[in-house]
Amino acid sequence: MTDLKDKIRARIANEGPLTVAQFMSICLADPEAGYYTTREPFGKGGDFITAPEVSQMFGELVGAALLSAYEALGAPEQFELVELGPGRGTLMSDLLRMASLRPPFLKAARLNLVEISPRLRIIQKKTLARSPLKPEFRDNFRDVPDGPLILVANEFFDALPIHQFVRTSEGWKERQVGLNRNGELSFGAGAASLPDEAVPPEFAQSPEGTVFETQPASNAIAEEIGARLSARGGIALFIDYGYLKTAPGDTLQALYRHAYDDVLSHPGDADLTAHVNFEALATAARRSGASPLPALSQGEFLLRSGLLERAGVLGAGKTHEQQETIRDAVERLAAPNQMGDLFKVLAITGNGEVFSPFDSTA
Ligand code: SAH
Repeated sequence: MTDLKDKIRARIANEGPLTVAQFMSICLADPEAGYYTTREPFGKGGDFITAPEVSQMFGELVGAALLSAYEALGAPEQFELVELGPGRGTLMSDLLRMASLRPPFLKAARLNLVEISPRLRIIQKKTLARSPLKPEFRDNFRDVPDGPLILVANEFFDALPIHQFVRTSEGWKERQVGLNRNGELSFGAGAASLPDEAVPPEFAQSPEGTVFETQPASNAIAEEIGARLSARGGIALFIDYGYLKTAPGDTLQALYRHAYDDVLSHPGDADLTAHVNFEALATAARRSGASPLPALSQGEFLLRSGLLERAGVLGAGKTHEQQETIRDAVERLAAPNQMGDLFKVLAITGNGEVFSPFDSTA
């Protein structure tokens, strides 16, 4: 049992049940015992491996897309380069290496890292110590200085709190984390309800017990980014696992030491995530005047960006073993049964600019 579990139980005993969003946010971001505050989640010793940690090719190809966006924007003389939730700083380090091929890009960019974890900030600074840009840290996207934007976020939105609603005989009721008779954490349905209009009509009459998720925290950030893009120009790339059409489903999951875990079992010690609703992110950005391009699967994004060619170049002249590692990384990143299909890449633009490897909306 974790200390954080005790703390959560005491809080519920005193103040009543928590929403799933409150529970998630305590587990991930509690200043003393939250997962991101205390853990080194990434890589072999951690709970999961993200795409940039699988291979440098991922960051390099994201870098190529950002260079293409920069050209499509007319090579602005100054812009804010932003990453949300940079983890160990690997993606930024790899994409800046690619961006170094275009010195005017580096000259025009100011690097902003939006990161809540003081511990991860130290690691990010170290990873980027020899990179061409010096990072400035921000607590929130809101704190990024005004100006045109080129933004990337990989596995950021999946870590933001979601709300869950359960279909009952009285409509959609908010799912809560409370205490059962034995004083253990357990799920229940609370009084707060979701208006039927919030659910697509084809799912309005779902069977009792169906779960429907909302992600107001993620949508609010997408809306802020959209407002900035439409006012000042730029593009944003959101990469995450999730779905392209709004639909019911319980996607809240816990990962503990590389294995799926019960969501309520290890607060603060397990990673908690939910699948990202990309339709909702695109709608939020559109609401504030920005133009999303049609989303690609991660597999499509990487293959169109030249993953196979890059792998060939990287493997040339290497040992058989090294080539094998590169081949494995290609599989892992792009194969439909691995990260290729589940992960999606959504580009939001200020003015509908099309850039490689995305298609226009028409
Ligand atoms: N992008 C990295 C890490 C993904 S994990 C990678 O692909 O490897 C999520 C990252 O988002 C971590 O760096 C975490 O500390 C950060 N994070 C989580 N919630 C945040 C919030 N509300 N604001 C800023 N950063 C946050």
